[in-house]
Amino acid sequence: MTTSRSRSITRLHRDPQKLAGARFDALVIGGGINGAGIARDLTLRGLRVALVEKEDFASGTSSASTKLIHGGLRYLENYDFKLVFESCRERRILQNIAPHLVRPLPFFIPVYQDDPRPLWMIRAGLTLYDFLAMFRNTHHHRILAPGPAVGLEPALRPEGLSGVPQYWDCRTDDARLCLENILSAAEAGGVMLNYMEAKTLTPTGDGWRLGLEDRESGAELETEARVVVNAAGPWLDRICALAEPAGGGKKLRLTRGTHIVVPRINRGNEALYLTAGRDDRLFFVLPWGSLSLVGTTDIDFEGDPDQVRPTSADIDYLLEETSRHLQDVRIDRSQVVASFAGLRPLLAADGGQASKASREHKIFTGGPGLYSIGGGKYTTYRAVAAEVAAQVAERIGRGGGPSLTHRIPLPGGRTGHFQSFLFRNTRTLAREFGLPPAVLEYLLGQYGSRTSSLLSLLHHEPDLIHPIAPGSPLLKIQVAYAVDCELARTPEDILRRRTSKALNSGRGLDEIEGVADLMALRLGVSAERRRQWIDTYHRRFASPFGEE
Ligand code: FAD
Repeated sequence: MTTSRSRSITRLHRDPQKLAGARFDALVIGGGINGAGIARDLTLRGLRVALVEKEDFASGTSSASTKLIHGGLRYLENYDFKLVFESCRERRILQNIAPHLVRPLPFFIPVYQDDPRPLWMIRAGLTLYDFLAMFRNTHHHRILAPGPAVGLEPALRPEGLSGVPQYWDCRTDDARLCLENILSAAEAGGVMLNYMEAKTLTPTGDGWRLGLEDRESGAELETEARVVVNAAGPWLDRICALAEPAGGGKKLRLTRGTHIVVPRINRGNEALYLTAGRDDRLFFVLPWGSLSLVGTTDIDFEGDPDQVRPTSADIDYLLEETSRHLQDVRIDRSQVVASFAGLRPLLAADGGQASKASREHKIFTGGPGLYSIGGGKYTTYRAVAAEVAAQVAERIGRGGGPSLTHRIPLPGGRTGHFQSFLFRNTRTLAREFGLPPAVLEYLLGQYGSRTSSLLSLLHHEPDLIHPIAPGSPLLKIQVAYAVDCELARTPEDILRRRTSKALNSGRGLDEIEGVADLMALRLGVSAERRRQWIDTYHRRFASPFGEE
């Protein structure tokens, strides 16, 4: 990493005028992981690209996932070998291009005598899992006897325990990984706009004219593109309806997945992969700093995707199933710290139980250059993006050839071997800035090789070294950097997605005033807008169960 003095800061400005009256090779609708990945791939191919996102980047499903970059062990039950193979390959690639954000995590699968999946079955599955990863995962699986396993994870109920398989996948920060794709596309010349909604789509003969609404100013504007990529996730059918008002049928089946954050219940460093007693579904208990993240549910959803919230039934399911499995763990609603829900945009063709529906993706084409992406999972976004981008490039007649995204690191990913990077830079930066090593480790894990650029703000504004509120782990510098260099436009963008403060103790309620003050100053917004930000934040995060 270059020193903070030698590294210049790339400031990013949200500039809607870059869209007005312009004509792009491709315009991507949706700033979740799929849209961000596609925009990055297309800009790296040298195409003229814009992306519009109606809320903040990653505000849809891409900040509501379980945050795993995984091969998908349970898909073996559905014989989805191709998907598992591809996911294991992508897990390795993402560890290379974003080593700060995609890090190995060990998992325990406690197997009990009366479980629907006996030990031999899990052992066979994990052998196949290692094989499909071509034995190139961080570690191979192993089976722990009950005694040693309970020694490592005292929360496991020992009665009837047959054995505990241990295997490795990766965890990520889903919203930040999405953001890094957006930043990479912006650095490569793409026009990336959050709070910009696509309202109309009109074919022009050799492309599309789009009517857009700037949700910050209320202004309406028009832009044109030869190709439109519909990466609107759960909103995909709505965008298709804009393009084909006569209707092309429902392409997606949406299922709601809820997570809860609770006091730490898994006492070791491993994640737990548990079987729900009432329906044999698998769910996770993950370490979440000093807390645990529990999820998820998988329930068909027919409503408005803008209105998805955790339901009481979802929360009770997760609380009851977790308490059932672990000894001395009795959690109830009063202990829930935070909760969130998101929608899986699965392919409609799949009937039957939601959790058994395939996670394969499909590219739907229609009109004069409309590509709509359904299905898929977070882990495989880069491969899906490469496939879509190749088709778009072929249609445009430029930018063909293989994708570059598997070998160019994401903006914070130029770390080399991550543990060595962490060790080296923690010491150097502690000397330079006098910050405690634990704080630097956290920053290096979030911002990777961009940490020096973040800290270089201190050369001109040394006051930014302080917490945003007394006792808060959130530093003013993170807020300033999110505004100046990460396109944050509201406090929620920072507290929920640039950082995950909203999903931790206090849910960012102690920080909201300080964040709003600093943002208002930097963005030059009115006192009234500042007040609205705070009111909206309280409405959404005052309760651990979300907006009522
Ligand atoms: P989204 O992230 O929803 O992005 C679509 C965006 O389009 C939204 O931000 C929306 O605001 C925007 N948009 C909609 N309409 C418009 C418009 N008119 N104009 C402009 N913008 C618009 N996968 C994994 O690999 N690992 C996991 O651990 C995992 N866990 C999951 C857990 C749950 C509960 C769920 C629901 C999914 C999980 N997945 C996981 C799957 C993964 O999260 C999704 O496949 C992925 O995030 C979908 O991304 P997307 O970009 O397609 O959709």
